[in-house]
Amino acid sequence: MSEFFDSLPITFETDVCVVGGGPTGIAAALSAARNGARVLLIERMGFLGGSATAMQVPAFAPFSDRTKAIVRGIGWEVMTEHQRRLGHPLPDPDSYHKPQDSGRMDWVPIDVELLKRLYDELCETAGVTVLFHTFVGESNLSPRPAGVRGLHSLVLANKAGLSRAKASVFIDATGDGDLAARAGCAFALGDESGKTQGMTLCFTVAGGSRTKYLEYVYATGDGYLAKLVERAKADGAWNLPDSSLVGMSFKSESVAGCNLGHVYGYDATDPLSVSLAEREGRKVIAKLMAFLRRYVPGQESIELISSGPHIGVRESRRIVGEYTLTLEDYLACRTFPDDIARCAYFIDLHAVTTEVAARAKSVTDGAQRSHSLPAGQSHGIPYRCLIPKGIENLLVAGRCLSSERAVQGATRVMPFCFAMGEAAGLAATLALDLEGAVRSVDIIELRQRLKTQGAWLGD
Ligand SMILES: Cc1cc2nc3c(=O)[nH]c(=O)nc-3n(C[C@H](O)[C@H](O)[C@H](O)COP(=O)(O)OP(=O)(O)OC[C@H]3O[C@@H](n4cnc5c(N)ncnc54)[C@H](O)[C@@H]3O)c2cc1C
Repeated sequence: MSEFFDSLPITFETDVCVVGGGPTGIAAALSAARNGARVLLIERMGFLGGSATAMQVPAFAPFSDRTKAIVRGIGWEVMTEHQRRLGHPLPDPDSYHKPQDSGRMDWVPIDVELLKRLYDELCETAGVTVLFHTFVGESNLSPRPAGVRGLHSLVLANKAGLSRAKASVFIDATGDGDLAARAGCAFALGDESGKTQGMTLCFTVAGGSRTKYLEYVYATGDGYLAKLVERAKADGAWNLPDSSLVGMSFKSESVAGCNLGHVYGYDATDPLSVSLAEREGRKVIAKLMAFLRRYVPGQESIELISSGPHIGVRESRRIVGEYTLTLEDYLACRTFPDDIARCAYFIDLHAVTTEVAARAKSVTDGAQRSHSLPAGQSHGIPYRCLIPKGIENLLVAGRCLSSERAVQGATRVMPFCFAMGEAAGLAATLALDLEGAVRSVDIIELRQRLKTQGAWLGD
C-alpha cells in the first residue's frame, strides 16, 4: 500500500499544511501565514467555516468568562469583523455585556454567507492557498533523522484523482482527528463504551418573528423550549423520542438558525453510520417544523430554508497527546506553564442514546455532567495537549483535543477552537526552523508571540 501511495504525484509542497477549514484550521492557517510560512489549507467542502457554515451551527459560544473576553486574537478579530459588517455594535473585550445587550460577546448569531466570504478574504489577504473540495484520506509516514516517526505527505482525493501534498509541518484541524488517526496515533472515542453524544442536523427557517420569540423566552426563561415541548406532549402532538431541544438563534427579525433535535447512536468516523444519521436528521426536522409552527410564539408561518450540508457532530475522536487535560484540571481552573489558550465554557455533554435522552430533563442532563465555572474563572489549555504522542511534525487542535471526555464537552466550542488553532499555526511556523520538531518549540517564545499577536493567556 505504502508503495502505491509513494507513487502518487506530489501536487503541493509547502511549509505548513492545515487540514480542515473550521475555526481551528482557519486560525491556524492565518496565524502561520501571517508569521511568514507558506500555508496550504485543505477543506472537503467548497467553503470555509467548518461547523458554523457546513453544519449551520447558529451562534458563536461565549468568548467571555462572564466578566471579560478570554478569547481574543484571531477568534476575536473574526467575531468582531462579522459584527462590524452586519452593522452591529462592537464589543469591548474588557467590558462584559450580556448576550441580550448590545455590544455582546457571547452567543453571537452567525450569518453563514457573510462568514464564508469573510474567511475567503482573510485567507486571501494572508496569502493562504486554500484547496476546496479535497478530502484527505491517508497519510504517508517517513522515518525522521532521530528515528522518530514523521508525516511525509498526505493523500488527497479530488476531481484530479489521487495525489499528494508534502509539508514540513502538518496541523490536523479536521475535528475528527482524521490525520492523526490515519498516521497511527492513539485516540479515545466517545464514552467508556465508545458511544458518542447525539448529533444534530441544524437548519435555517424564515418568516418567523424574533420579537415574539424573545418576548416568550425572556418572560418564561424557557430558552430550551422545554415548557412548550411539555405542552405538545400533553396534547399528544410530540412524536420525537426525546425532548432535548437547544434553541433558536435569530440572525434578523425573521430568519433563525435552529439547533434543535438530536439523533442518537451514530458514529462520525463510520461513513455509513453518518449517512444514516443524515437521513434521520431530515426526518427529525420535518417533525420539528410542525412543532415550531404550532407551539412556538411568532413562528406560525415559518418556512424551512435549508439544513446544514453536513450533520452536526459534537464528538468523535480525542487524540492522545503528550498531556491529556483532565476534569480535575477543569474544576480546579488549573494554569500550566505552557498554556496557549484559556477556556471558561461549561461542560456541555449531550446524551448518547435515545433512552438516556428520554429520561433527561434538559439537554445536558442526559449525561448528568453539566458544570459551569464561576464568573471570572477559566482554565488553561497546555501546548502539550496539541502534540500527539509518537509523531514529530504534527499538531492536533480543536474538537479532537487531547482531553478527558468531560473537558472536551467544554473546549470543543468555536471560540476555544480559534484560540487553539492560532497557537498551533504559530507553533508550526516556529517548528520550521527545527526541522518540524514541534516538541522543541520554545514555549516562552510561543507564549510571548501569541500575546503580541493579540491572544489572551490570563497573565
Ligand atoms: C449541533 C451542534 C451545535 C453546536 N453549537 C455550538 C454553538 O452554539 N457555538 C459554538 O461555538 N460551538 C457550537 N458547537 C461546537 C462547534 O461548532 C464545533 O465543535 C467546532 O466548530 C469545532 O471546530 P473544529 O475547527 O475543531 O472543527 P469543525 O468546525 O468541524 O471543522 C472541521 C473542518 O474540517 C473539514 N474536514 C474534516 N475532515 C476532513 C478531511 N479528512 N479532509 C478534508 N477536510 C476535512 C470539515 O469539512 C470542516 O470544515 C456545536 C456543534 C454541534 C455539532
